[in-house]
Amino acid sequence: MNKQSHPTMAPNHPLITILVALLVLAGMVLLAIRPSGEADPSTDGTSVSSAEEEAPPPAEGEPDGLTVVDAADVVGVEEAELAYDGGIPASVAYPVIPNAEPLADFLERELNDEAHAFEAASPGAVSFEAEWNLTAAGGGLVGVRMTRVETDSEGPKEGYTTYWYDTATAEHHPSTALVAGQEELERLNTLVREAVGNGDGGSADPDVIHPISSLYDSMGFNPGGDLVVEFDAGQVAPVSEGRTYAVVDAEEAGALLSELGARVRDAATVGVEDFEVSAPAQTAGNGGGDGPGVGELYPVDDGVDCSDPGTKCVALTFDDGPGGRTSELLDVLAEYDARATFFLTGHPVMEHPHTVRRAYAEGHELANHTLNHPDLAGLGTGRVRSDLNTVQALVYRETGYTMDLMRPPYGSTDDGVASVTADLGLAQILWSVDTLDWKDRDASVVRDRVLKGASDGAIILMHDIHGTTIDATHTVVGELDARGYTMVTVSQLLGTTTPGEVYVDRVPDVSEEDV
Ligand code: ZN
Repeated sequence: MNKQSHPTMAPNHPLITILVALLVLAGMVLLAIRPSGEADPSTDGTSVSSAEEEAPPPAEGEPDGLTVVDAADVVGVEEAELAYDGGIPASVAYPVIPNAEPLADFLERELNDEAHAFEAASPGAVSFEAEWNLTAAGGGLVGVRMTRVETDSEGPKEGYTTYWYDTATAEHHPSTALVAGQEELERLNTLVREAVGNGDGGSADPDVIHPISSLYDSMGFNPGGDLVVEFDAGQVAPVSEGRTYAVVDAEEAGALLSELGARVRDAATVGVEDFEVSAPAQTAGNGGGDGPGVGELYPVDDGVDCSDPGTKCVALTFDDGPGGRTSELLDVLAEYDARATFFLTGHPVMEHPHTVRRAYAEGHELANHTLNHPDLAGLGTGRVRSDLNTVQALVYRETGYTMDLMRPPYGSTDDGVASVTADLGLAQILWSVDTLDWKDRDASVVRDRVLKGASDGAIILMHDIHGTTIDATHTVVGELDARGYTMVTVSQLLGTTTPGEVYVDRVPDVSEEDV
């Protein structure tokens, strides 16, 4: 049905809808005239072989969207309303399905967290709404697609997340679990970029699409079995374009799917009648401990061991950004397979979310440098907490990553900051080499200071908001590489850090007296 040789990114064209409707009708006619008892030879292994069974009704939905299951076809489903405990009005509904209570519990927690993250990340937050629909029910699976509307001072913005629930194990899965692994997600990302690049509709930018969980959090199948990837308004195209999506041909997508993904596809491509969830065989649910999921990246996983005396590690760190030329710095780092750490402040994150996602996707470490860059010492723990929390929420919403390092502006910290950061799970990272690049806007001066200061275990402070610093990195990164340095993230350099503790280089500094 409507097989495309290439993935497409197209608006919901009425002609396509009509064609599909005609094809569906034609298929129904064929089914009707086929002698009863004869298996349909066109389906693969899932055909109805018994003369007693009736063919299931066709799956419903549009070719550019996820399959739509009428909730009335799921036995006993009810709607619950979230009792939101935050500070803005929230109107959030989610499904409660008999024998699938762990799903409802998960949705309640998740939506509450999402509303809190929106509120924390958006000083102008006005309201949070969410409604649900089912996108598969069968084969031991339920798919729940949430549509959120987040309203802030700039108006409403729509976003989507789709969760998958296994009724036998009582486990819930994110959409990234539909693909077999990170490599498959990367291949899917290439297909999606192609679809966007070839697209005759929408002005989404292929270059801002990366294989990370926050971008691939709403995936499923259309009734024909093609994989549909959808993006929130404003995520990869201007907000005014609303939902953007890519459809990846069933055959191409099939090779990338996990076992769960193949089961979901099978469930989403047949119609639903009186689906009933039986009590789960296991009740363990999501026990965790499975390591990072697909699309969740950690800045430490590439096998560099800085404690090895044969490895000379240096951590380049960039504060106060990202800036307009940070992508240029990312190009240079990529050229030398070098990693860096970006201590982000809030407003630049809001201004350059694509750069934040790219840095994350390319293996750099993201760390918290506060929302408004205040001197935290003596500020009061309430304000320190809310300032840091805002940036945690901002970065989490863009990337799905929870940062575990922070840098106090001006290196200024005290016991109150130590206690708040300990509580928030953030280690305090200072530096051992200060390039003073904010003061001396001269690329050759900055370069000389980096090269003079570099030593095994050093943490070097720079600011990627200054053009002269970006200019300096063009030669510095290559020169450090030539001198045998491995440029690593702070977490690669330090290994496991203790929240609240202060570090200036590879040896933890517990005295806190150096500022
Ligand atoms: Zn700063």
